[in-house]
Amino acid sequence: MSNDKLLRVTQMNAIFLDNEIYKALMRILHETSRFLPPGYIAPIEPELGLIVRLALLKNSVCRNESTFGQQLLSIKYSNMSNFKKILYLFGNCFDYVKHRLEFWKPSHKVNTFMFKIHMVLVLLNFINMSIFLRRGVKPLLIERCLGLNQEYSTKTAPRHFEAKYLSRELLWNGFIDVLIHIIPLINYHKIKRTMRHFNPFHKKPTYVVLNSRTMTMHSKCAHCGENPILPHHMGCAHVFCYVCLKGNQTADSKYECPICEHRNPNVLCDKVSVIS
Ligand SMILES: [Zn+2]
Ligand SMILES: [Zn+2]
Repeated sequence: MSNDKLLRVTQMNAIFLDNEIYKALMRILHETSRFLPPGYIAPIEPELGLIVRLALLKNSVCRNESTFGQQLLSIKYSNMSNFKKILYLFGNCFDYVKHRLEFWKPSHKVNTFMFKIHMVLVLLNFINMSIFLRRGVKPLLIERCLGLNQEYSTKTAPRHFEAKYLSRELLWNGFIDVLIHIIPLINYHKIKRTMRHFNPFHKKPTYVVLNSRTMTMHSKCAHCGENPILPHHMGCAHVFCYVCLKGNQTADSKYECPICEHRNPNVLCDKVSVIS
């Protein structure tokens, strides 16, 4: 299969996937080192990063002539030799060498030299990316330097997406976006209360009006079911968190107790006296 059929987006996705695999491994490394004493990993973090990167390349490029990102997208290098593999590995060590030299002797003139090389590489990367966008081959500078070409590893690799599938995806994503914005605006309790009033078979439970109520260790908020925080009441025997009661009353001016359906406009949100 010829190179010009390899999509730019596929090649870019392979690079993106490689970076994500590297980041995921480093994340796991940080997670596992969380229980070590503080400052144990930080001094050797560049070395660990280099080891992970080289191990990834050793098991992908050196073994299968393609990075893991490329393997996921069924592409590979078509003209990789052993010499190019070694150069490929060395090419990935530059950032580590630069970082370490800066760390050891920040004011040494070798760092000025390394900085100049770094700036040249940034410029070359930019030029390479411009050429890649124009021609659609060799997205990485190291690939251009080593003359590496990419091709599909299997003949059935190119995936064709039907417009029908794509529009369904777009519709579904748009629908989810709308739901995410609309659901928080729906006042479920207000709808429930209104429907209850229209239900002819609904029997209102009896409620007890108390002059004082006691809080115990087992008292739960009538709205959220948790231990009440800043306990308040609305005239009935039930206790609410202040935020639960006030928040619902702000959203619905005719808010009723969800358990006994009591509502007294004169007692909306009163503090519960705590007896120790
Ligand atoms: Zn509550
Ligand atoms: Zn109640």
